[in-house]
Amino acid sequence: MKNKDKNISKSTYVVHASTDPLSHHGIVNVPVYHTSTILKPNLDDYRNSRGKYDYGRIGTPTSEASEKAVAELYQMDDAVATPSGLSAISLGILGVLSSGNHALFPDSMYGSGRRFVEHILPRIGVSFDFYDPQTSVEDLSSMISDQTALIYLESPGSQTFEMQDIPAIVRLAHDRNCLVACDNTWATAFYFNANAHNIDVVIEAGTKYISGHSDVSIGYVVSSGATAKQIRQYAKLNGICVAPDDHYLTLRGMRTMRVRLLASQENALAVASWLQDQPEVIAMRHPALPSHPGHHHWKRDFTGSSGLFSFMLNPEIPFSAIDAMVDGLALFGIGDSWGGHESLINQAKIKRSITNLPAGTLLRIYTGIEDKDDLINDLAAGMERLRKAMT
Ligand SMILES: *Cc1c(COP(=O)(O)O)cnc(C)c1O
Repeated sequence: MKNKDKNISKSTYVVHASTDPLSHHGIVNVPVYHTSTILKPNLDDYRNSRGKYDYGRIGTPTSEASEKAVAELYQMDDAVATPSGLSAISLGILGVLSSGNHALFPDSMYGSGRRFVEHILPRIGVSFDFYDPQTSVEDLSSMISDQTALIYLESPGSQTFEMQDIPAIVRLAHDRNCLVACDNTWATAFYFNANAHNIDVVIEAGTKYISGHSDVSIGYVVSSGATAKQIRQYAKLNGICVAPDDHYLTLRGMRTMRVRLLASQENALAVASWLQDQPEVIAMRHPALPSHPGHHHWKRDFTGSSGLFSFMLNPEIPFSAIDAMVDGLALFGIGDSWGGHESLINQAKIKRSITNLPAGTLLRIYTGIEDKDDLINDLAAGMERLRKAMT
């Protein structure tokens, strides 16, 4: 950006973030700097670490551009890039906890993050509990002890989309001297203002909407002040770094993030509204639909919804009929991840310790940026296959 204007909207910001053509021969996008070694002009400069960059692992113009763009998008001090969203979860947690601490995680936490918690935290002497994401603040309060140092949020929850009462939990956490980490991958900086909600550690899988084209694994841990320094140091000591091509692709994806989010949101709302009217669908889980149990929290705290939601089919429908519907879809790929340009569908695989789901088959949909009528027509033909398989 030529003139750094702090008052521009996020939509404009992502278009110009971290561009610096004057430092790169007029080239619009920050080039991909592939390097391990960064040479110094003389031994004295080397001895005293003079110059902006010392070593490829620690930072290059390419990594700095992508990290700075995400930090500024969140209006927070620093964003540390990690090689995946999952490693952003582990960094966000390990970066602020020590042996002897206790931490609280929502039962609806992203599955691989949950496995990290269950397998790694006991090995380093951190105790933890899972809590019902829809629990009352009073009940959550009773789970906090003097050792509790972190309350982790993910709202909406993975696959089941429970909304949390974020302002109340943040107030409780800070009253009790706990930090708050939040996996904000679903909403992104556009639809949930984590900084305004006093989140201490924001985790976002850039694999999803920021990079946006299903071809990059990257995560970011975003924070401010002393917490940011601690997390940056933890990452540096652990040698966490991301390949320059992935930084480049992510920053390139970020330019169109706003328009992709808008298209994906519109498609999800159209598809979810259509699905809601099908007799085989017994429950919808889309936070922006008024029928969603946590809709009031979404409406109060969020400024938009993304393309990921789930719906439950009647438990009497056999897998063979569901497979006939899903396997024949032309526009929805069957697979993990989301946030790219293309639509996806899968069946939720859920592990919970304290909350239960009603009976039924839970399918998760991600709507990309295709035409919404084409997506609905594809699903309508799928529903016909399902009905035919039932007769
Ligand atoms: C995908 C996802 C992650 C993990 O991202 P990866 O890049 O796949 O490791 C974390 N949190 C949420 C909510 C996600 O959807």
